[in-house]
Amino acid sequence: AKGRGRGVFSHFEPGMDEAAAARRELEMDMRVGLSEGQFELHYQPLIDVPTRRTVAYEALVRWRHPTRGMVMPDLFIPLAEETGLVVPLGDWVIRRACEEMAQWPEYLRVAVNLSPAQLRSTGLISTVMQAIAENGVAPDRLELEITENVLLKDNAVHGALLHKLRGLGVRVALDDFGTGYSSLNYLRAFPFDKIKIDRCFLKGLGESDETLPIVRAVIALARAMGMTTTAEGVENEHQMRVLLAEGCDQAQGYLFSRARPAANFPELRRAGPQA
Ligand code: C2E
Ligand code: CA
Ligand code: CA
Ligand code: CA
Repeated sequence: AKGRGRGVFSHFEPGMDEAAAARRELEMDMRVGLSEGQFELHYQPLIDVPTRRTVAYEALVRWRHPTRGMVMPDLFIPLAEETGLVVPLGDWVIRRACEEMAQWPEYLRVAVNLSPAQLRSTGLISTVMQAIAENGVAPDRLELEITENVLLKDNAVHGALLHKLRGLGVRVALDDFGTGYSSLNYLRAFPFDKIKIDRCFLKGLGESDETLPIVRAVIALARAMGMTTTAEGVENEHQMRVLLAEGCDQAQGYLFSRARPAANFPELRRAGPQA
């Protein structure tokens, strides 16, 4: 391979250029999309396990792209994270979710995902305060979801930040629990209201017993520390049976609903002034 000099590069360069160009194009597209209102929120219900009533909706961002169609977050959140665009996007998500929730019955909460860059940004606290104040929603109706991998980076900052957020009265949930690095230390160090058990632990639950001990232990741990639990990725009644027996508080997944625009959920339609 040695000695071919530029030949090697000229072989690889076009591909790398293409990838870089595609990323730049996506980034520019996202900027336009943000300013032109191409992003929208879909909502997935969180169900109280014993009563099966909806208690909250998680806001999941979608990009209604003029030519690519509906783009899912896994395709643009990572790039948005790298470019920093996830901060204005995420701030929009917080504001929009509070705006929509203001139209909902008061017993319903909204859950919003926070990205690492947002947690590092200085404006987060004021964005959250403004979103709550301007829409006149009770702070404890807003739940912020943070994945555990985020916390590894900078303990001191995030510990203080989470305390500040909770000081505002909003709730904080640990998302995708069990998928990152060692997690038990976080539970001690960070003030979470809730643990969301990642959907990989729900696979086969109720059919084979492989993941049951983990789910059981996480629920017990959360309870011992005064936190609630939500199981993600619930797709069948076998899983629900186990979750009920084990005392999991909430379930979320395709068994109940995929994420959809708020208008698709009758209980979220604007109630209007009471006669
Ligand atoms: P997440 O926060 O873990 O969200 C749950 C994802 O699992 C959603 O995918 C949801 O549609 C999907 N899901 C829900 N129930 C089931 C189920 O029963 N089975 C299966 N197989 N999947 C289920 P989605 O909407 O594509 O979101 C993917 C990820 O994108 C989210 O994972 C979250 O990390 C990120 N994301 C979404 N919206 C935002 C946002 O506004 N801000 C940030 N920073 N990240 C976001
Ligand atoms: Ca989430
Ligand atoms: Ca999750
Ligand atoms: Ca996830």
